[in-house]
Amino acid sequence: MLQEAGASAVAVRRPAELEAVDGLVIPGGESTTMWKLAETFDMLEPLRLRIKEGMPAYGSCAGMIMLSDRIQDGIEGQQTIGGIDMVVRRNAFGRQVDSFESDLDFAGERVHAVFIRAPWVESVGADVEVLGRAEPGDRIVAVRQGPLLATSFHPELTGDTRVHRYFVSMVNSRGSSR
Ligand code: GLN
Repeated sequence: MLQEAGASAVAVRRPAELEAVDGLVIPGGESTTMWKLAETFDMLEPLRLRIKEGMPAYGSCAGMIMLSDRIQDGIEGQQTIGGIDMVVRRNAFGRQVDSFESDLDFAGERVHAVFIRAPWVESVGADVEVLGRAEPGDRIVAVRQGPLLATSFHPELTGDTRVHRYFVSMVNSRGSSR
């Protein structure tokens, strides 16, 4: 999806690989596993540092959880990278069987969104822009704070590159973050 959106994409698993990129996508998956692996591979502090320095990052689903300053319904001791001034509730839309798809407005464009055991955003700070909401409940599911973007849904599963293009243009408009 990143390649289609005009970026050259590489996998980031180690601090040296993180050093080499201008922006980072933190995909869906499982946020407690991501946290534990990030600690095991000494990635948590380097990630926090790059985010603090202003590296653009986009987190979808578990990635949204990782970019959130505060979480609800995490496991004991669960940490995030943080960066976006918001509270995210894990598994808020329900269990795996409650996964669903819906059409919603993302930054003014109609997109088809896939939610898989997805979180929602409970609340945001003053500097966070709400880019999208979803039924049920008109919940916040897409946000941006400066160079940081997060969605509860998985645009990489629909073949529609607009959300990734939105992120790539955030990275390009910033140039190198260092
Ligand atoms: N429920 C997962 C978590 O807590 C996120 C699910 C996903 O990324 N699709 O991390």
